[in-house]
Amino acid sequence: MLYLTDLIPGELENSEYKWLVSPRPHLGLLTRRRANTIVNRVRLLAFLFAVLTAAWSCVDLIVFPFDLWFNLALIRLVACTAFAGLLLYRPNGNLLDAYRAMALLFAIPTVFFVASYTLLGHHRLTGLSAAISVGYAFLPFVLLAGLSIFPLTMLETLFFAAPILFAQMIAGLMRWAGMDWPSFAGEFWLLVLISGVSTLAGMSQLGFMIGLVRQAVRDALTGALSRSGGEEVLELQCSIASRSGVKLSVAFVDLDHFKNINDQFGHEAGDTVLFNMAEIVFRNLRRGDMLIRWGGEEFLLVMPDTGLAHAEAALARLRKNGFGVTPGDTPVTASIGVAELVADHASDWKSLLEIADRRMYRAKQNGRDQVCSRDEEVATKQKLSPVPLAQTETSL
Ligand code: GH3
Ligand code: MG
Ligand code: MG
Repeated sequence: MLYLTDLIPGELENSEYKWLVSPRPHLGLLTRRRANTIVNRVRLLAFLFAVLTAAWSCVDLIVFPFDLWFNLALIRLVACTAFAGLLLYRPNGNLLDAYRAMALLFAIPTVFFVASYTLLGHHRLTGLSAAISVGYAFLPFVLLAGLSIFPLTMLETLFFAAPILFAQMIAGLMRWAGMDWPSFAGEFWLLVLISGVSTLAGMSQLGFMIGLVRQAVRDALTGALSRSGGEEVLELQCSIASRSGVKLSVAFVDLDHFKNINDQFGHEAGDTVLFNMAEIVFRNLRRGDMLIRWGGEEFLLVMPDTGLAHAEAALARLRKNGFGVTPGDTPVTASIGVAELVADHASDWKSLLEIADRRMYRAKQNGRDQVCSRDEEVATKQKLSPVPLAQTETSL
């Protein structure tokens, strides 16, 4: 049996198909990367348009009378300056800024189109100059085709295409009386078709991007966030916490004597222990908390909107549930250092992590299998009995 989804390249998971329609369900990381890609492409197109707009003036000079060329050159100069101004936009991960850059990119040629079209309408042109002037009417086609280079959802592409189609329709209605309407209808139909192709092109780019972002941000063994994805999460959470004044705790979790598990039971058994450990932590994560695999057997637990006291309580519950068992049935334990952005006066996520890392080493020095949340404190060691996986609490 043939399913429609079989026809779509396999880079998307079932839950991700709706991401192609609207940007609403997109995760923060995808939104930031997409915003940056959009701004970079706006800058590329702005540069190309600026160069082409200026260079085409030479063609105008050859084919048009001097006064028409001069007026067109003035319009071109304004458009060229506006395009060059768009190069000042820098990718900052903000989708609204990306939309604004795109809207400006499309607004400049639209104004240019209306101004040049009006100007050309006042001249009776024949031969080559008439042929070149017809080229100006192709601008809406170029704009709609240009949409295809952006990784947009269906609704976003339609949002940007609609004003161009609408303007074309209004222009047609205004000239309705003396117009060859079948050729207008044919042109309009072509614009609609190009919009459809651009929508598909944008969605397929987006689909590809969703797959790449997922692969880049997920660790294949444990399903936790990868280090590079985690760095983005930390940066984002830190900037949210600093801006809004809410707390942000990070725990550095390092499994104890993990090398012994590998040495005793083999690397594959070690992998299984890591997989199980992540599974247990996932099951016990609160909404909004994130697990990052920072390296081998080192994990970070990012707890937004959580002060030190609550983080300590959450970690105590996590330790009570345990981190799984080795193939020899001994409990897997971890040394944990925890730090909070405001209480520990961390200036950014890197210094927050440094503090948590330092405390994790303190926990190791103090005998492992414990949490350390203060620099001066001698962490209290609390021995725990192994807890079978099936009995783990889910109250964290
Ligand atoms: P400590 O209590 O001091 O943290 O001791 P440890 O043995 O956990 O720490 P150490 O840094 O000496 O060793 C970490 C080990 O983790 C060494 C490495 O082979 C193993 N490791 C790292 N990544 C993986 C992995 O993906 N799979 C497996 N099976 N082992 C890994
Ligand atoms: Mg380690
Ligand atoms: Mg270790």
